[in-house]
Amino acid sequence: MTSNRWVWLPLALALAACQPAQPGGPSGDQAQTADLLIVNGKVFAADSAGTTAEAVAVRGNTILRIGTSSDLDTLRGPNTRVIDAKGGSVVPGFNDAHVHFIAGGFALNDVDLAGLNTLREVQAAISQFAAAHPGDGWLRGRGWLYTPFPGGSPTRAQLDEIVPDRPALMRCYDGHSVWVNSKALALAGITRDTPNPPNGEIVKDPKTGEPTGHLKESAARLVDKVQPPQTDADRRAAIKTAVAHASQFGVTSIQNAGGSIEEMALYESAKRDGDLMVRGYLAFQANASTTEADADRMVETWKRMGQDPTLRTGIVKMFADGVIESRTAAMLAPYQNSKSAGQPNLSAEELNRVVAMLDKRGLQVQIHAIGDRAIRMSLDAFENAMKVNPAPERGRRHRIEHIEAVSEADIPRFGKLGVIASQQPMHVALGDMNQVKPSGPWPDNVGPERYMRAWAWRRIMAGGGRIAFGSDWPVAPLEAGQGIWLAATRVSQPGGVDQAMPMADAIRGYTTWAAYAEFEDQRKGMLAPGMLADIVVLASDVFTTLPTKVTDVVVQSTVFDGKVVYERASR
Ligand SMILES: [Zn+2]
Repeated sequence: MTSNRWVWLPLALALAACQPAQPGGPSGDQAQTADLLIVNGKVFAADSAGTTAEAVAVRGNTILRIGTSSDLDTLRGPNTRVIDAKGGSVVPGFNDAHVHFIAGGFALNDVDLAGLNTLREVQAAISQFAAAHPGDGWLRGRGWLYTPFPGGSPTRAQLDEIVPDRPALMRCYDGHSVWVNSKALALAGITRDTPNPPNGEIVKDPKTGEPTGHLKESAARLVDKVQPPQTDADRRAAIKTAVAHASQFGVTSIQNAGGSIEEMALYESAKRDGDLMVRGYLAFQANASTTEADADRMVETWKRMGQDPTLRTGIVKMFADGVIESRTAAMLAPYQNSKSAGQPNLSAEELNRVVAMLDKRGLQVQIHAIGDRAIRMSLDAFENAMKVNPAPERGRRHRIEHIEAVSEADIPRFGKLGVIASQQPMHVALGDMNQVKPSGPWPDNVGPERYMRAWAWRRIMAGGGRIAFGSDWPVAPLEAGQGIWLAATRVSQPGGVDQAMPMADAIRGYTTWAAYAEFEDQRKGMLAPGMLADIVVLASDVFTTLPTKVTDVVVQSTVFDGKVVYERASR
């Protein structure tokens, strides 16, 4: 931390060059008044210097100045709105680098099973929801942990007991498994004779051969297929629901980890209607069968959407593997409790081809890679693209998503290749929840050695790598404060205390660094003159009093694009 006086940064100078304000004295901007003043705060600019201040002045949708409360008082005019931060931290708006925004909006209308540790709790939550939403339509839920189920595998009998008369589908918190009842299996026509689809498993009873109701990976699509389709109007409504949810938690930017080109039009319609109170960075999706023509179509949409700071694309999501919990993550060595090491979703040749094809067009690529083999393949694919293609005009900021169990040898490659590690702190907590006796599938599956090098964000940084933080909502809550709490206080296994971040870096992971991960660090992610006015006022000073529990980082006010979009009722 530096002094409390407001500081002009070289970057901020460049950005403010178009304004009449002059560095070194207030004379130039006396003519201007602020539209919004946030005073009496512990302002953390989230720049690399660690600049602090007391107050932030906003005009229109940009930050005018940061400084002491008395300095900035000169900008107060008759129409200036003033927020008294009452000593709370004031930080840039949170930028969630990995969400599934529309799915999140839908999940807000489903049974929430997150964090429930016993079968009794899970069944009670479903029963209550079913009673509150009567009818014969599909009952959906999500967020179940493996812990409540013997062997980590839920059964249809457990669901039939409470929902016998209508189809029910409950998605696992990791998104890679579903749990269905007999009614749903029947509607989908899944029997003992149904073969496993590619990259999927219909779990069957070893004695009877009957499907148990647990469907892994692509097998979930067999039931997804028979559900009433979501309409564009449903999806458009889900965006609106999700935006309101985001504002409550200080989330002013979201990076959507994969969707269709058609979905992008829905965000454009939300923007036109004034419903998009977050900045969206939306990814296309690619896999082994993506063609040059597909890639050209992505570039067309990218160019058409342009560089509007509210809605952009230019990034492509790929999946190299699954997840450790269902042993579908691709590992270099077999799982501790299985002969299998998991299989990557595509071969190294296929991954190299698609990544190089996208890289050649200047597209950013983000690869879901959780197991150490998938992570290595992804790093190899980026390294290969750097060899075979000239550097794109804007440079490269390729990313790997999740990086749960990285091999020791690959840790320094993030820094060396300039690959961003996009990680989700709350996934560590989900791992912990799953550790409840007799211990859950994550540590059980990888064994103690790999368990100790899980989620190695500080070590990736020590090797020169860049980090961006996110939630993976609805896999984990969208509440950025929970991720900040975990990143700053990570005392639990896996990884141990050495992976706890200084509070300043935990916040940078959700602001400055997340902005870098979407090529937006010149416009947002930092509180400095000329930057977009996305600001969060927290209810307390999280730098002086470290949060001790998951709910401790509370948002008091959210400012998006210069406007107050959320205020907490009390403090
Ligand atoms: Zn995700």
